[in-house]
Amino acid sequence: MTKEKISLVVPCYNEEEVLPYFYEEFCKVALDLPEYSLEVIFVNDGSKDRTLEIVKDFAERDQRVKYVSFSRNFGKEAAIYAGFEHADGDYVAMMDADLQDPPALLPQMVKAIKEEGYDSAATRRVTRKGEPPVRSFFARRFYRLMNRISTTEIMDGARDYRLMTRQFKDSIMEMREYNRFSKGIFGWVGFRTKWIEFENVERKAGETKWSFWKLLLYSIEGIIGFSTAPLAIASVLGLIVCCAAFIFLIIILVRTICFGDPVAGWPSMTCIILMLGGIQLFCMGILGMYLSKTYLEAKGRPIYICKETNIKRKGSEI
Ligand code: UDP
Ligand code: MG
Repeated sequence: MTKEKISLVVPCYNEEEVLPYFYEEFCKVALDLPEYSLEVIFVNDGSKDRTLEIVKDFAERDQRVKYVSFSRNFGKEAAIYAGFEHADGDYVAMMDADLQDPPALLPQMVKAIKEEGYDSAATRRVTRKGEPPVRSFFARRFYRLMNRISTTEIMDGARDYRLMTRQFKDSIMEMREYNRFSKGIFGWVGFRTKWIEFENVERKAGETKWSFWKLLLYSIEGIIGFSTAPLAIASVLGLIVCCAAFIFLIIILVRTICFGDPVAGWPSMTCIILMLGGIQLFCMGILGMYLSKTYLEAKGRPIYICKETNIKRKGSEI
């Protein structure tokens, strides 16, 4: 009987320091899951260090190691997509290279799918230990806002680390959008997900690739990708300003009738003009953001460009 296969997708961007540790952990977890055949697909996201050489070196020694290497840095989301596209396991997992997603949780995740009948097993961290407090604060606010304005459920503290069935993975591949926000995509496709909680683990070696700025842009991507609520802001603000103007008009009329019309009030007029101008620019900005995303989608560019790989695929389009 042939064993069922689990493909692990690992996006790597400048991870030379941590890859040897990761490989060690991979070998360990493979021993814990003897009834499955494991493969690991490293997606080299245009690293500038020796990541690709290290991965190729693993691949030479171990045929369970596969790699896909991009022509430049396309971002983690593109790397995940590429990994999924190349993974042909019966189950597919994705995890970071820095061991913040402990591979040792894999047997527990496999159990959730195989024995408990879930379609995917995902992880969420219950603590944000080791993270700058400002980042944690904004992350919390983001999740709260997101869940209020979007119909797609996005779990607070969810990591991208998850194991899924082939069917779940195939549904994700159906979502071919260019602006990808995995946390939303996983929620959008539905299915039954078991949440496994664990304590935050710090990165084993190397440095995080996410600056505060990059995270902020990523969260905006998430909001725009999975909610159209900001578009309604213009209408709501417009309505509020109209009501205010109407009340103001009545007050001025009454005042003029009762007390005459002394010429005054230019500072307040300036404030009103400035405020209205500000609101208009703000709303136009929101429209612009949606438009720019639509523009990028309309171009239909490929999500990534693969420069080299050791995976042979049937009907590969790139
Ligand atoms: N990563 C990537 N492309 C990028 C940035 C990050 O493939 O442009 C990978 C990185 O190698 C790691 C994972 O995404 O495996 C998560 O990155 P990191 O650990 O820096 O993020 P954090 O855990 O701090 O959120
Ligand atoms: Mg990390």
